[in-house]
Amino acid sequence: MSNTRKPGKQPQGRVEKMIDRCFFQLPDWVGSFVAEWNEPLDTVKSRMEFAIALSKENIRQQTGGPFAALVVDEDKKELVSVGLNLVTSSGLSVAHAEIVALSLAQARMGNWDLASAGSLQLITSCEPCAMCFGAVPWSGVKSIICGAGKSDAEAAGFDEGDKPADWVRSLQRRGIVVQTGVLSNKASQVLADYKASGATVYNASVEKKRSHRG
Ligand SMILES: [Zn+2]
Repeated sequence: MSNTRKPGKQPQGRVEKMIDRCFFQLPDWVGSFVAEWNEPLDTVKSRMEFAIALSKENIRQQTGGPFAALVVDEDKKELVSVGLNLVTSSGLSVAHAEIVALSLAQARMGNWDLASAGSLQLITSCEPCAMCFGAVPWSGVKSIICGAGKSDAEAAGFDEGDKPADWVRSLQRRGIVVQTGVLSNKASQVLADYKASGATVYNASVEKKRSHRG
């Protein structure tokens, strides 16, 4: 087999230049916002307060959708990573807050399995969509804490995707502790405010009537 090609002519069906990497990056404001947050992260409510504050700031800074997440080391009571919805700023549909937080935690730990780093917890300002729900068991977190619920996200125009109705129990069957509705009124107000502001609602091409969840 010859490997020679005429320069400037690509074989049919090939792109001219393959992209070999992509990434998402937290906006610049996050570093100082995290540094200035002096509240302890010793309870699920205090962690949710921080996630909600981050989601509000993400809207104010216009760096993504109204969703934020954290990964916290439950043993050390320390923040491991922060995630924001970066779909619009990164151009990546997978850049939901939970995926960003889990990925940054794994990058920090240098391990795809967060279970190897101890008892890590995912806190999310809104319960996970179908994609993020699927990502949770593979991430190695021991627990997930949710603020706003599916109905709150849908009321703001977001789509949860085809998530099992018994998603909480399916995670629990895998040994993951699930707590929903933590500061749900405060968390859902962020979604309502986002909708009321007329901010960008990014549409999924598969369903024009609804926006794609972040
Ligand atoms: Zn999601």
